[in-house]
Amino acid sequence: MEKYYGKSVLQGIAVGKLYVFEKKQSSWTKQTIEDADAEMVRFSSAKEKAVAQLDGLYRDALEKVGEENAMIFDVHKMMLDDLDYLEAIEERIRSEMVNAEYAVTVTGEEFSAVFASMDDDYMKARAADVIDISARVVRILEGGEDAGLHTTEPVIVLADDLSPSETIQMDKTKILAFVTKHGSANSHTAILARSLNIPSLVNVDMEILKEYHGKEAVVDGVEGALYVEPDEQTLAEKKRGQEKLFAEAEKLQQLIGKENITKDGRSIKLYANMGNVEDVEKVLKNDAGGIGLFRSEFLYLGRDTFPTEEEQFLAYKEVVSRMEGKKVIIRTLDIGADKKADYFGLDAEENPALGYRAIRICLTQPEIFKTQLRAIYRAAAFGTVSIMFPMIISVSEIRRIKEIVAEVKAELTQEGVSFGEAELGIMIETPAAAIVSGELAKEVEFFSIGTNDLTQYTLAIDRQNQKLEPFYDSHHPAVLRLIQMTIENGHKAGIWVGICGELAADDTLTETFLDMGLDELSVSPTYILKLRDRIRNIG
Ligand code: PEP
Ligand code: MG
Repeated sequence: MEKYYGKSVLQGIAVGKLYVFEKKQSSWTKQTIEDADAEMVRFSSAKEKAVAQLDGLYRDALEKVGEENAMIFDVHKMMLDDLDYLEAIEERIRSEMVNAEYAVTVTGEEFSAVFASMDDDYMKARAADVIDISARVVRILEGGEDAGLHTTEPVIVLADDLSPSETIQMDKTKILAFVTKHGSANSHTAILARSLNIPSLVNVDMEILKEYHGKEAVVDGVEGALYVEPDEQTLAEKKRGQEKLFAEAEKLQQLIGKENITKDGRSIKLYANMGNVEDVEKVLKNDAGGIGLFRSEFLYLGRDTFPTEEEQFLAYKEVVSRMEGKKVIIRTLDIGADKKADYFGLDAEENPALGYRAIRICLTQPEIFKTQLRAIYRAAAFGTVSIMFPMIISVSEIRRIKEIVAEVKAELTQEGVSFGEAELGIMIETPAAAIVSGELAKEVEFFSIGTNDLTQYTLAIDRQNQKLEPFYDSHHPAVLRLIQMTIENGHKAGIWVGICGELAADDTLTETFLDMGLDELSVSPTYILKLRDRIRNIG
């Protein structure tokens, strides 16, 4: 038996087989070949596989998001069969005697440049597509598989590190636990694990070796330990612990339908945080009063192109409809920092957490922002929707957002597209926003405090850096004072104030938050009933 320690992200216990997850890495180099015919066979077979993948994606998209949105995969398929493109690749392989990876990449880049220089908007838009199809063929040539899990039984995923976009692509029904050598408990991957109610350990003191694949293991999130090939006694003890946790969760079920009210009559709203449309199941099962934070950027992760308005509309509509009139607060795109999608074409930055992200992208690329706002407003016709904007620092940003919102509504009206109304609020997650919250409160209808980033920016501590975790103290008086100041300023202006950062689930602070007069706590669905229990025992 081997035992390793790590930082626990969720206090559960999982028993199962280890699955060593290896990252897809592009590692090809330009090479001179000796047999052009053999290289052409390699290329043709990779191209056929790419066509088959695109066929599958088309059928899948047709079923899930309709013909209009599925078309892109058909277009990609046609491009892969374009004679000019194929002949250019063949010509390069045969005349330059180079490997197919190089020939495909360089040809893709050349075609892309030609498309980009055209006047016609439709042709211009094909520039990204030709890069995309070329990358798909190269991935196949390299023998790379997609980032999904290739297993039929649920497993404990063991990895060096996991990015949010890798995590999002995995089939959640196949995951018993996550264990990573790197990663911090405040990262979005950890947040994702928490919201999925999957026991997880980060920063585990071990080398991730291929030989662990398939071995029996136990993840104990209470102890913060991973056991590889546990002995019989340990296994039995951990299984008992697991049953105890299941029994406690079962007991909390009695609180379903009960109010979040203290013994002395103070009440608070308990909402849920979510990132994927499927999470709404857990939100409902755990009896949340609403959705306090729908991290919409997860719709943009783990894919190769922007989600269309229609795709987003269908996703929001499903969540809003299933909540049956309960409030759904959709946070607009918060991409950047650790949440990356290649097709945004974001430059590498020295300080990504202080960089070009979230509302800064939306305000400088309003076409991306408007597509999302159109989808949200259309979905608002099916229930109760609020829109929340991330990373705000000033009143002028809100005024500009309101102008764009007005344009979007005017355009929808003009086009005769039906839409609903939405309450507008902002996240308070920068010290600047907390400090000027008195002025900001006059511009919006609610505040939701993002303590994850508020802690990072107030203490000047990177939330992603595992070495700094001992210093990342969300209970720091500076953070608590900014929270208090925000609540007071919000209430003075007559708006409601909540917390949607991870601190909202910290039950050692629940009483403090009630004393501060907080109106709402939004937490991972897993914590709703535990917090309800805590609240009902206060006073
Ligand atoms: C926060 O910063 O507290 C927050 C809720 O947003 P995110 O964790 O997605 O950055
Ligand atoms: Mg944040």
